[in-house]
Amino acid sequence: QRAEWRKLRDEKSVSRDGHHVELAANIGTPADVTGVLENGGEAVGLYRTEFLYMGRDKLPSEDAQYNAYKTVLEKMEGKPVVVRTLDIGGDKELPYLDLPKEMNPFLGFRAIRLCLDRQDMFRTQLRALLRASVHGNLRIMFPMIATLTEFRQAKSILLEEKAKLASEGIPVSDSIQLGIMVEIPSTAVLADQFAKEVDFFSIGTNDLIQYTMAADRMNERVSYLYQPYNPAILRLVKMVIDAAHREGRWVGMCGEMAGDATAIPLLLGLGLDEFSMSATSILPARSQISKLSQAEMKDLAAKALEMSTAEEVVELVKSINA
Ligand code: PEP
Ligand code: MG
Repeated sequence: QRAEWRKLRDEKSVSRDGHHVELAANIGTPADVTGVLENGGEAVGLYRTEFLYMGRDKLPSEDAQYNAYKTVLEKMEGKPVVVRTLDIGGDKELPYLDLPKEMNPFLGFRAIRLCLDRQDMFRTQLRALLRASVHGNLRIMFPMIATLTEFRQAKSILLEEKAKLASEGIPVSDSIQLGIMVEIPSTAVLADQFAKEVDFFSIGTNDLIQYTMAADRMNERVSYLYQPYNPAILRLVKMVIDAAHREGRWVGMCGEMAGDATAIPLLLGLGLDEFSMSATSILPARSQISKLSQAEMKDLAAKALEMSTAEEVVELVKSINA
């Protein structure tokens, strides 16, 4: 099996009936890029920049960030790199920010909420990203977007920093795509509105599932409710993909679900364009997709959307291998 996967390293990701998708990797540090390339990753679908901020005692400087982003972009040699702006809070703490303890950190002051408030910090990251953009194919993504107002505010701050750099004579790429994570149900529901203003979506199922099912992703006692295959989740995913495609936007997924062998047939059938996962899952996923017919998976997904429980959906997916 490993030998079969190896052979797929430099291949495209194509279903048995010729439908192309992109298989990308999630990374946390520039050093992770080596593994992405070794495993045949076509892109970085999620660069979690939190790690740049963690394990130190103060905020990383603009230059330190610029160097990290530039390294990733250069190593990827023109392949797309989706960099997510700071997603701190919730399960990811930063002691030196000295934020007050909250009753519900996952529902609290985190990610884009924090960045729109602490604009000094946000602007530094955006400047570093914009400066790095000339070294590769950069895409910028905002996490935890709940409203269009948040997206518009974040975008206008980005444009302000871009204009400042231009006035300082610092080169910035003019082809940076700007997207959002869809990981809050309000954003999935309003995906048709968002699709008119963003370049792409990346569905963050790790959070989308916890918020849709109201089940803390860290809490063992409610883990039975953490159901990727619940038809409610599949319907939200479908809404997002259809809304994006109607506006000619692409949709990725960067939650754990994107690399899950049970979910992949359904996601292929729903029309997902980009699957972003841990690097080691890429070759198995490429192999799996090459054996599936997208037309058949469309029918499979349509059936799953009409089911009432996650268990039924799992049985349905198992039946295609029987
Ligand atoms: C997600 O929520 O699915 C996601 C990819 O982000 P994180 O796991 O970093 O919250
Ligand atoms: Mg998330």
